[in-house]
Amino acid sequence: MKKKRKRPAVRVEIAGEALESVFEECDRYDHEETGGRVIGHFTMDGDSVVIQARGVIEPGPNARRSRTSFFQDGEHQTEVFRRIEAADPSIEHLGNWHTHHVNGYPTLSGGDRATYRRIVNHELHNPDFFYALLVTHRNDGRKGLDRYAVRHYVLFRGDDAVHEIAPTNVKVTDDPSIWPKDHRASIDARGDHDADGAGPRGKVSVAVRARDQVVLGVLFPSLAPRLATPTGTFFWKGQLPLIDGSAVDIKVAEIDDDGSLVYYPVVSPTSEHVAELCGTSFSSAAHAVRALELQMNREIYQSAMAR
Ligand SMILES: [Zn+2]
Repeated sequence: MKKKRKRPAVRVEIAGEALESVFEECDRYDHEETGGRVIGHFTMDGDSVVIQARGVIEPGPNARRSRTSFFQDGEHQTEVFRRIEAADPSIEHLGNWHTHHVNGYPTLSGGDRATYRRIVNHELHNPDFFYALLVTHRNDGRKGLDRYAVRHYVLFRGDDAVHEIAPTNVKVTDDPSIWPKDHRASIDARGDHDADGAGPRGKVSVAVRARDQVVLGVLFPSLAPRLATPTGTFFWKGQLPLIDGSAVDIKVAEIDDDGSLVYYPVVSPTSEHVAELCGTSFSSAAHAVRALELQMNREIYQSAMAR
């Protein structure tokens, strides 16, 4: 048996943008549990650990949720993690976050603890600790990063106990989040960065963009919202995967058409039909992407059948 060592003191520094992503996910799933992976860096020397949470990886398109349980899409998350790691080899999977605000359970469940113990003792889990952020309830009437209450926990390899980190040892920083990468653009895009930011386009565009964000986030996670500088034009950009395993670079441009916003797909045209779609306006970016996907898949299918 190993000699029992003194438990290190733990401090958490979490990027405000990462916390905002957590809360946005909670806003989105207000009837079912949800969560994700927490990534970042840490420093560990003898008797102190500083956990620097710099981003969260979304649960993924195949996550399963209920009021009392939540299973993440591990394959999707691993793929995202590998991409982040390619740009930042020092990135670590620090732990997980999930929410109980939908079931009111104020602390980690027995199942949560058992799962986290398994992970922290797993040979493929690199840090000798596992960090768990739990959203416990919604603070009605509060805004911004005060709109939910959170608790922070840490587990150590070879130690069965679950330790709560005192709120005084948790600091929210203004470091930018590493993931989601376009967080700033997505906040700006929804117009809630400041009250007058919505401009003449007003609430409608904010609602459409927010819905696009949810729908596209699930169906086409490689598409990200962008703001062109200096024009301030809003668009979506990324790769559209097709049925033959290929992917095509697309954009969806948002155009102010006499006070109402419309969306045009932009892609290098492969056919007359696709060119026609690029001249058609849609009521949301999600509609535009789906129409494009349908048409391009149809053409792949038809050319395969014609062979
Ligand atoms: Zn739980």
